[in-house]
Amino acid sequence: MTDLMSKFDGLIAERQALLDSGVIDPFAIVMEQVKSPTEAVIKGRDTILLGTYNYMGMTFDPDVIQAGKDALDQFGSGTNGSRMLNGTFRDHMEVEQALRDFYGVSGAIVFSTGYMANLGMISTLAGKGEYIILDADSHASIYDGCKQGNAEIVRFRHNDVADLDKRLGRLPAEAGKLVVLEGVYSMLGDIAPLKEMVAVAKKHGAMVLVDEAHSMGFFGPNGRGVYEDQGLEADVDFVVGTFSKSVGTVGGFCISNHPKFEAIRLACRPYIFTASLPPSVVATAATSIRKLMTAHEKRARLWENARALHGGLTAMGFKLGTEKPESAIVAVILEDQEQAVVMWQALLENGLYVNMARPPATPAGTFLLRCSLCAEHRPEQIERVLGMFRAAGQAVGVIG
Ligand code: PMP
Repeated sequence: MTDLMSKFDGLIAERQALLDSGVIDPFAIVMEQVKSPTEAVIKGRDTILLGTYNYMGMTFDPDVIQAGKDALDQFGSGTNGSRMLNGTFRDHMEVEQALRDFYGVSGAIVFSTGYMANLGMISTLAGKGEYIILDADSHASIYDGCKQGNAEIVRFRHNDVADLDKRLGRLPAEAGKLVVLEGVYSMLGDIAPLKEMVAVAKKHGAMVLVDEAHSMGFFGPNGRGVYEDQGLEADVDFVVGTFSKSVGTVGGFCISNHPKFEAIRLACRPYIFTASLPPSVVATAATSIRKLMTAHEKRARLWENARALHGGLTAMGFKLGTEKPESAIVAVILEDQEQAVVMWQALLENGLYVNMARPPATPAGTFLLRCSLCAEHRPEQIERVLGMFRAAGQAVGVIG
């Protein structure tokens, strides 16, 4: 017998070497207690959370929690079935209506995660003899959506409008084409030049799907995303999003004004062949989405926090993923894995949790300490965070 597990020996050895160096495993953190969107207990100590996707701090909103409790009481803990069969309850309809209202569109389809929304939409929209054109730094779920389908795959250089134009120009004019973009790229926190990219896509007769996972709630006048901020609501054909970030629960979705959009429900395997979300989850999502429609004050606070953190870290001499604060993600770029792990651990031991990100998740082989802000971070927490970065950065020798 060939042991199929032996292909993981390299990975196991690499991880063991990391642990043998005496560091805390950055990929095995347990939240022993969660006190608020910005505070948890990790390894017995109070810790500021600066590495979650809880951008709008909705996880402890009393109305959101109440909606979940009511749904649990009235509809039970789960649906026991696919949306296509017995798995559509009142609140699945309600959350899709909340999405149509939030985005001002005619169509909304909810999936069990954002990962599955990308997997399902991308593999279903583009088929044999058609083309998917995607940014090289696309999220894993976009790549997996490409693998799941039968379309030809073409990649262009990250955020490079001219490269997108060139690659589209080489494809057969009459073939179906889907350009897949992201509003915010989650590793470095940079945004896409969507206006230019969408114009290029349209010039070549391509349809456009934008993943707005990391922008919902705080980009654009209505919090719809970077595409709204850049005035592209009439030009983007499909928007994919998730409930796991600003909405504060779990689930994924796609919205569209396409008149035939509902047909996706009949053809999309990751929509059909899996159980639907539990009633409590869709009820919390619906309540959260409706509250996000008027969360202008939270939006303003999130941007203030992002600017304060970015400005403070820049002033100390850290190298960041973007020159200016572009989103709620501020990525600190480090030299190598060792520096990243030592710095990450120094922060954690002082009571700060950030994400440690490394290849293959990161672009160009970079090692990152990724900070993501929340509207509920208070100014004094940001001050403490900056103090911890200064101390750890100097101790590790990242800054002078
Ligand atoms: N798209 C992007 C850009 C993401 O960053 C993520 C998750 N990090 C997803 C999709 C998947 O979302 P979910 O967590 O809901 O599966």
